[in-house]
Amino acid sequence: MTDVGSALNPLRVAIVGAGPAGFYTAEHLFRESDLAVEIDMFDRLPTPFGLVRAGVAPDHQKIKSVTKVYDRIAQQPNFRFYGYVEFGKDIHLDDLKTHYHQICFTTGAQTDRSLNIPGEDLLGSYPATEFVAWYNGHPDFRNNHFDLSQERVAVIGVGNVAVDVARILCRTPEELAQTDIADHALEALRHSRVKEVYLLGRRGPAQAAFTNPEIKEMGELLDADVTVLPREARLDLLSQADLEKNPDKSTLKKVEILQEYARRQPAGKSRRLTLRFLVSPVELIGDETGQIQAMKLVRNELYATEAGTLRPKPTAEYETLPVGLVFRSVGYRGVPLPGVPFNDDWGVILNEKGRILKSEPRQPVTGLYTAGWIKRGPSGVIGTNKPDAAQTVRCMLEDLNQGHILNPIHAEVEAAKNLICRRQPRYISYNDWLRLDELEVTRGKKQGRPRLKFTRVEEMLAALGQET
Ligand code: NAP
Repeated sequence: MTDVGSALNPLRVAIVGAGPAGFYTAEHLFRESDLAVEIDMFDRLPTPFGLVRAGVAPDHQKIKSVTKVYDRIAQQPNFRFYGYVEFGKDIHLDDLKTHYHQICFTTGAQTDRSLNIPGEDLLGSYPATEFVAWYNGHPDFRNNHFDLSQERVAVIGVGNVAVDVARILCRTPEELAQTDIADHALEALRHSRVKEVYLLGRRGPAQAAFTNPEIKEMGELLDADVTVLPREARLDLLSQADLEKNPDKSTLKKVEILQEYARRQPAGKSRRLTLRFLVSPVELIGDETGQIQAMKLVRNELYATEAGTLRPKPTAEYETLPVGLVFRSVGYRGVPLPGVPFNDDWGVILNEKGRILKSEPRQPVTGLYTAGWIKRGPSGVIGTNKPDAAQTVRCMLEDLNQGHILNPIHAEVEAAKNLICRRQPRYISYNDWLRLDELEVTRGKKQGRPRLKFTRVEEMLAALGQET
């Protein structure tokens, strides 16, 4: 039996990644009344909150209020935040193993999935994930350039990220100016010439991945008409039969909303958003300079798999859609972490219920855990990470009870702090973040905005009086 987790010998946990899954992991551990636990949370960025800061759309401020919960977790005396400390660069797996009993990776999904079609990398074709990070002021993407002089844009995919991208393109500068959108993006979008936005779904309306509040919001845009082609709003026979068999309320509502859009007459607004269904891009077509000028689409029909899922298959019907800008929004993808087993097919850390597994033989690696998108893939909303982290924490506690933990030679708060000071003397503490937060909110207030974000790491360090 081990006394790790007792008041005299607290469990030392490192959490790598300060997004929702990281904070929920910390919360579940702190909730264990019989457990003395010390948590150090690392992030490669100086700012915490992952996709709540860099992913949630700027015109969805309410969703961001979840950070109040994370603030409360961070105020616990046994919690420390080490921002601007990169795993794999400033600190390594071996460092963590010598300082912590358990290590949990919650690094999310930092890149995008590819379409694997010709022309995917032409000028004017971008991953939606980069556009999202750019307009949200993520420092890695603040210098990206998106050609908003184009009038016609296609967004491939019909998930909530695609909807976010389309909505940001369709909002007026006045609407955007009330949000915490990054200043560089606001400026670029003020000069946007985008007029037509297409959202392209490879399956039908009943299978669209977006959720109802998000798609309803599309119908209420101040200066953009929304439309669906009547032919594509109608359900095919398989979808109809499927809905009759499983009359899921939210799917029925989704179809009803989309069919209402198909009946709408345009109100003469400046922009138009067209939702398309049962079409797949098969090629992006460029001009002689390599700039996209069109997209070849194939019409799909649905078929039922053995499991009953309705999947798309191409027909022989093609069309060409002239567009000058394309955002590929077909899902995020996790990136491997040095020394941590990874399942390349799924883009996640190899794990079972949050316990990280060796690949051959498939056995748990002592002391290593994962939660969130890097554990299960990029699905679900922020709150989905709470039960997901709870499952991981159950494994962590079971293993602690069994004595299956690491045996760190420097299991003290100060030892870890000294290591981090040596490796990254400019690390950002939670108090530093609170100061940055206050500065951003104060700067925003002057402009009637929720906050004005710092978008460069140097700016953040300088604002905190650190030399860059
Ligand atoms: P998602 O919901 O998984 O949607 C991905 C979309 O890409 C689906 O429409 C999918 O179609 C399509 N797709 C995949 N491969 C394709 C291909 N080869 N060709 C054409 N289309 C393809 O992913 P997401 O939009 O990136 O969102 C990630 C998660 O974050 C989701 O759970 C989402 O709900 C959540 N999120 C929520 C909010 C919010 O609550 N407001 C905002 C943003 C994101 P199929 O269905 O046919 O595969």
